[in-house]
Amino acid sequence: MALSLISSATEYDWQSQLRDLIRSPKALIDTLELDPALLPAAEAASTLFPLRVTRAFVSRMRKNDPNDPLLKQVLPLGQELHSPEGYSNDPLKEQDYTRSRALIHKYHNRVLILGATSCAINCRYCFRREFDYADNRLSASDWQAALDYIEAHPAINEVIFSGGDPLLQNDAQWQKWIDALEQKPQLTRLRIHTRLPVVLPARVTDTLVTRLRASRLNAVVVVHCNHAQEIDAEVERALMRLRSNGVTVLNQAVLLRGVNDTLVAQVALSERLFEAGALPYYLHLLDRVNGAAHFDVPDAEAIALHNAMRGHLSGYLLPRLVREQAGDTGKTPVF
Ligand code: SF4
Repeated sequence: MALSLISSATEYDWQSQLRDLIRSPKALIDTLELDPALLPAAEAASTLFPLRVTRAFVSRMRKNDPNDPLLKQVLPLGQELHSPEGYSNDPLKEQDYTRSRALIHKYHNRVLILGATSCAINCRYCFRREFDYADNRLSASDWQAALDYIEAHPAINEVIFSGGDPLLQNDAQWQKWIDALEQKPQLTRLRIHTRLPVVLPARVTDTLVTRLRASRLNAVVVVHCNHAQEIDAEVERALMRLRSNGVTVLNQAVLLRGVNDTLVAQVALSERLFEAGALPYYLHLLDRVNGAAHFDVPDAEAIALHNAMRGHLSGYLLPRLVREQAGDTGKTPVF
């Protein structure tokens, strides 16, 4: 990243943290003082989907605990090497809805733009772990094609940025995107799906929140947090900064075996999110992507857990239990 594009010390701070990710199983195992016997399988699985995690996220993990719920989300395991029947590389068939490079139009009133081709953290269960980002990189001409597509489809009133993690683009890029979208009168909302406020909270810069606050578009940031332990004081400050600048902050989590598949974990997550300024929005069942089968929680167990949560949480703290199905035009509630 060229220094000339860095708009503030804070922006410099998150970009320097980004250059200092943990990228090797050995570094992660050494940092957390884990059993070195975990290494061969971790190295084998990381050849399929590389390990990548911020030091900020690692700092919230317990040392010498292979069952830490944050560690389980990022440590490659030998189980990833074998996927049962029913798992695939593109479980949501996103390639079928790609209208131009980096633009997915699946829902009537909204389009999804893949605003970045990587993330600060590689979540082992990610449904896009096999997505061909190289083939869907957003160039200047693709961006113009996306703007033209939006204009040609007046029913579209919301643009969703996803990725990769779109907040990996710097503030100057966001300024340009928001400027251009504000020129489209049909648009009323801008939604950003990102894990960065949780895994790299320094990304929530003053420049970013000031631009979002000033926009005529209603800004919604959907973060991704699976466990209460992910929210420390710095994450809470980042979420509160968004909220106090008029941004609606929602959370989507994925129900993951061994991470958050208990009533205690789910209630603590919803309570902690609300305390930090975010509303629980969706609890997703696992997308059946190759390499992630060991995270699966069967539907019947998920439904029983969700029913139990209902008895322990105020209605506005109960996320909707949903599954994304290839071919459906919305998320499918699971009852
Ligand atoms: S941050 Fe989101 S898109 Fe990136 S690897 Fe994790 S789940 Fe996938």
